[in-house]
Amino acid sequence: MNLRYKISLSLVVTTLVPVSILIFFVFWHVTNDAEKDTKHTIQNYLQLMSSKLSDEFYSSIREVEIYAQIEQVKSLEPSQFIPVLKKELLRQNGRYEKLLVSDKKGHLYNTACGNIAQDYKCTFDDTDPSAKPKFLTSRKYWQETVGNNLSEKNVTHLSDPIISYSTGVSQLIIATTVFDDNQLKGMVGASIEWDRISTMITDLTRSIFSQFNWTPKVMLISSSGTYWYHWDQDKLVRLKQNEKGEVVKDAKGLPISVSSNIYQEPEVGLHESHTAMMQRLSGITEFTLKETGETNYLFYSPIASSQYSIALMVSEKNINQVSYELKNLYAFIFVITLCVFMFAAIWIAKAITDPISRLVDQANRLKEGNYQAESDDTGTGELRELSQTFSQMAKVILDRQKRLEMSEERFELAMKGANDGLWDWHLDTNKVYYSPRWKQMLGYDSDELTEDSSTYFNLLDNKEHKHLQEEIESVRNSDKNTFKYKVRMRHKEGHLVHILTRGIVVRDDEGQAQRFVGTHVDISELTENEEKIKKLNSDLEKTVKERTLKLEVANRHLEELAMLDMMLNIGNRRGLERHLNLTHTRFKEEGQTYAVLLFDVDYFKKFNDFYGHQEGDNTLIQVVNCLNAHLVKSEQIYRFGGEEFICVLPESDLEKAYAQARKMVEDVKKLKIKHDKSHYEVVTVSVGCAQVGIDDVTWEQVIRRSDKALYLAKANGRNQASNTCFANEKIMDSKMA
Ligand code: GH3
Ligand code: MG
Ligand code: MG
Repeated sequence: MNLRYKISLSLVVTTLVPVSILIFFVFWHVTNDAEKDTKHTIQNYLQLMSSKLSDEFYSSIREVEIYAQIEQVKSLEPSQFIPVLKKELLRQNGRYEKLLVSDKKGHLYNTACGNIAQDYKCTFDDTDPSAKPKFLTSRKYWQETVGNNLSEKNVTHLSDPIISYSTGVSQLIIATTVFDDNQLKGMVGASIEWDRISTMITDLTRSIFSQFNWTPKVMLISSSGTYWYHWDQDKLVRLKQNEKGEVVKDAKGLPISVSSNIYQEPEVGLHESHTAMMQRLSGITEFTLKETGETNYLFYSPIASSQYSIALMVSEKNINQVSYELKNLYAFIFVITLCVFMFAAIWIAKAITDPISRLVDQANRLKEGNYQAESDDTGTGELRELSQTFSQMAKVILDRQKRLEMSEERFELAMKGANDGLWDWHLDTNKVYYSPRWKQMLGYDSDELTEDSSTYFNLLDNKEHKHLQEEIESVRNSDKNTFKYKVRMRHKEGHLVHILTRGIVVRDDEGQAQRFVGTHVDISELTENEEKIKKLNSDLEKTVKERTLKLEVANRHLEELAMLDMMLNIGNRRGLERHLNLTHTRFKEEGQTYAVLLFDVDYFKKFNDFYGHQEGDNTLIQVVNCLNAHLVKSEQIYRFGGEEFICVLPESDLEKAYAQARKMVEDVKKLKIKHDKSHYEVVTVSVGCAQVGIDDVTWEQVIRRSDKALYLAKANGRNQASNTCFANEKIMDSKMA
């Protein structure tokens, strides 16, 4: 059931039900009252009819009683009262059919008949003087007023209708006693045609009930229960007729009258009503007609001035006609109200649900992702606000969607550009999204592989399986938010693919890991390259090592070369300094003494000048070779500069050194290299000897002393050794520089 029907139904239920109950209550109350009112009205009308009839009877009774007071009547002399009564009859103008008088013997004197020959008595043939007089002794009204009035009381009697033997007309006789001088003389009466009463009842009924569209069934019932007025003519008193339509007569030759009685009716209710009527009561009796089964009401009321009761029979349908009409009216009102309410409910529901439907449509469009659709904010109040909110939501969503699409596009492009695979593992459901590229890396199509974590672990190289699971567990239980591993996974074709898996951990507010999201990069080529590079590096390292070694050797060689005098193939000054540093350090640390010999070729400048530089070089080579020949392995000769040489003699003292120096001087001379510019005529050398001393902080001090000794040797004539030193700082300083 949709909202519109629910709202309609709710409105109908919440408004129509109380209204219906109200209408029903009013309806029930009013119709109930209507029924009572109708009954009451009928009863009132019946009372009215009863009163009218009572008045009619009463006025006639009063008139007849007045007739009894007329002197002519009181005289009971026909010649006197007949003219008076005839005159009165005329005056009454048909009110009475006839007026009649009877004496105590029962003779009948009548305004309608009379046998003059018989003293105005009515006879059976008033034209026959000997005709038999008529007597009223058989008439009840006569018996009541005269015959049986033994106590001679003043009595007025209203008879039941009597059918005239002669005319067959029903008459009602009002008879009253006639007294004269307190002597009962007879009776005077008036005959009223019953038809007049019947017509009066009929007219009364018509006029009184003219406002109704139905006419009640009226009956006038005597105290014996005989119907004297009845809607059914067959139930009225009438002369019995045979099949030929002739009046049936009794043994005395008198017509037989037939009548119907209420006690002949099959309905017991009617009998009971008549019992109440006899008690002069008014009332209503409800009964069911045997013939039709229809419910009827009998309204009855006594006619006060008579022994009659008048009764109206009205069907329930007629009684309730007003209430039926009211019921119909209320039913109509109810239906109209129902229709109006339903229409109003539907209209209200429509007014409420139309904007809601539009909102639902808007919401559905949002649900279906249609954020572009035109907003429909034609509602009012809160619904309009809601509709506008939907529109704004749609705009916000659209904006976010666009940004998301852009972001996704960027991400996709980035992923494409990076050629990375994406995986997204929801830990609570164990569902894992693997992007097409992720699968493609391992040789699978997009629709292959189940999307859960088992796929990942099944494709892992066996060696990695346990390790990675432990790593994941460790990340999950730590506070790390990123991780990076290199794994090997099995390609669909069987070979292993090197993968770099990087990811982030998405945690909830309590720090529990909810998702792992990450990328896969195929690093097989990179790994291969790395391995190649590793090998190359290793080879390179080896080569470098070898080369370095060679270089070291070369360097050492170069160093050696750097400290070597290439021409003379002995250590140069740098070599000398290094050697002396070591030697002097050893002296200072270990106390190992040493001595130095400083040689200088004599007059070598002149030699060069004379023999040429080349010859000078050759001479230097010969001199050095000569000096070198005197040295043991631990002793070294160095070129100190130009044509000066120093021999370092470890563990040698001055004396020993001096002796060795002199030999060396001699041996040079013995080379006999011709030197015409020297007074020795051969090349000679001079040498200064010095030994390291305890005060020598540096070896330079030792060299300085040897130089001073050399100076002395030169000064003493050259071609000699000297172990003596003296102060000549100037010379020394110039040499050291
Ligand atoms: P003295 O006896 O006083 O030592 O006289 P001298 O001429 O030798 O004087 P000095 O030692 O000052 O002169 C050195 C000369 O040695 C100068 C230079 O021409 C020469 N000389 C130095 N080095 C070389 C060299 O490598 N080859 C040649 N041929 N001559 C050299
Ligand atoms: Mg020199
Ligand atoms: Mg010299």
